[in-house]
Amino acid sequence: MAVPKRKTSPSRRGNRRAHDALKVEAFSECPNCGELKRPHHMCAACGHYNGREIMQPKV
Ligand SMILES: [Zn+2]
Repeated sequence: MAVPKRKTSPSRRGNRRAHDALKVEAFSECPNCGELKRPHHMCAACGHYNGREIMQPKV
């Protein structure tokens, strides 16, 4: 079995994890109700997408 020859130093471990941070979730404003929504997704607040109603919003 392949085994690491050296212990990973805290510095090296940190350098490896430097790119692990999560990106900020993209968002845009709903043109119908002004609520923030995900781009290319139906608005969760009013159920609209591409200028028409896809789904009835929950009451
Ligand atoms: Zn909306």
